[in-house]
Amino acid sequence: MSPLLPDPSRISITRSRNLPTADQLRRLQHILVLMPESPGEELWHQIPHGDVLSALSWRRPAEAKTPLRTHLPAPGRATATVGFLTNTETPFAIQTSVRKVAGTALEDEPETLGLIVIGWDEQTTRLIQASAISAVLLGAFRMPAEKTKPAPAARLRRVRVFSPAPGLNTKRLLAEAEGNNLARWLTALPPNRLDAAGYRDLATRLSRREGWKMRFLDEKALSRKGAGAFLAVSQGNAARDAGIVRIRYRPAKVSGRRPLSLVGKGICFDTGGNNLKPFKSMLNMHEDMEGSAVALGALLALTRLGYRHPVDCWLAVTENRIGASAYKSRDVVRAANGVTIEIIHTDAEGRMVLADTLALASSEAPKMILDYATLTGTCVYALASRYSGVFSNRTDLYPALVTAGRESGERVWGFPMDEDFEEPIESKVADIAQCAVNSEGDHIMAARFLQRFVGEDIPWVHVDLAAGNHKGGLGLVPTAVTGFGVRLTLALLLDHDLPAAAEGEAAA
Ligand SMILES: [Zn+2]
Repeated sequence: MSPLLPDPSRISITRSRNLPTADQLRRLQHILVLMPESPGEELWHQIPHGDVLSALSWRRPAEAKTPLRTHLPAPGRATATVGFLTNTETPFAIQTSVRKVAGTALEDEPETLGLIVIGWDEQTTRLIQASAISAVLLGAFRMPAEKTKPAPAARLRRVRVFSPAPGLNTKRLLAEAEGNNLARWLTALPPNRLDAAGYRDLATRLSRREGWKMRFLDEKALSRKGAGAFLAVSQGNAARDAGIVRIRYRPAKVSGRRPLSLVGKGICFDTGGNNLKPFKSMLNMHEDMEGSAVALGALLALTRLGYRHPVDCWLAVTENRIGASAYKSRDVVRAANGVTIEIIHTDAEGRMVLADTLALASSEAPKMILDYATLTGTCVYALASRYSGVFSNRTDLYPALVTAGRESGERVWGFPMDEDFEEPIESKVADIAQCAVNSEGDHIMAARFLQRFVGEDIPWVHVDLAAGNHKGGLGLVPTAVTGFGVRLTLALLLDHDLPAAAEGEAAA
């Protein structure tokens, strides 16, 4: 397997109908208990060694937010971590608390971990169990590192859920975690490892492994298609290895359905181009390919779940560099759908590569297009890095988008898409300007710009990944790189059937 791909997860999830017996407890290295704040004696009595844990919990200072951690006085001396959840009002609040407790439980790297959630109604219990399993799967994952003395391999092999709530879907949790872990892994890879050539190689190997059909449209192929917007960005690269990856997922025994398209921005390193970024703004620009990693992670999760619809995945892979051949302000280029673009600012390269990628995806008349991109600084100014922005040419979909965001814990907010937002990007010399000279509302202008490259009859959702990096982690995710969007996508497709919702609107 490619050194650029993470080792496949070897963690399995098993279930026990009841709370653990003494014998089951002996075979676990760690037990993770989640309870409400100030649990009554009857709750403590239901869990093994509850009397010991209860006595210890009384000794915690009242204001202590840290979970209780101790060895159990039992053969095997399993370690126990007990977390007390104060806020269970939203999935995000649950995820945030549970992620921190799971982090404590994983500190000594157990091979086997038992999970007890006790003291809530069925629905809340299911939510907490699902969050705890996900947090453990994400927390146990090793991010890329090339140390001469490598960290020992992750040890966790088995998670055992005691008294699982009805409807707990562990297969879905494993798939989501695998998709998110892949997205975070790719985003964190050094830019000299995941350069355009490395990305192409990785996509080829991953496609072979997963049974996907892959095609790489290199610069020559893109030139034949007239993809002048993408090529304007890639022409500044030192090597001629940039291109658009197209991957096809086709489930068995499904025919006659139009595919759904997932499109991602894959800028492997963004210097800003001739309008160069200052040092601190450029430092983490290897993460500017996170949108493509999220598209790929979502496709992997859907594949694991045997999603019953065909999916195409389009990744726009290039760097954005400076140099004699790099594009510049006031250049005019023509995109694959014929629209001409006046370049204003070379750091607005994401919308350039997406323009052609969306045009190519649109030319195959998909049922719906979802795109993901770390696109604008103004989206971060608007939402901080806790939410991501969503935009659509079907604004009636916004309630479903916001709901799926709330349910998945990957929260999103819809922005306006009124036509007059295009006034600042009118051009005297081309059909449209790439961006305005001033950045005010740039996330909205960028979305209006992108819409020019999407077929009008195709429902389209654009996710501006303001929450792609959040210091200290976000929701379930323990790392600054969040891989935001994989869980959201699964909620949109599997729980809300967004393509069908969009079709309903078109028919109405
Ligand atoms: Zn840029």
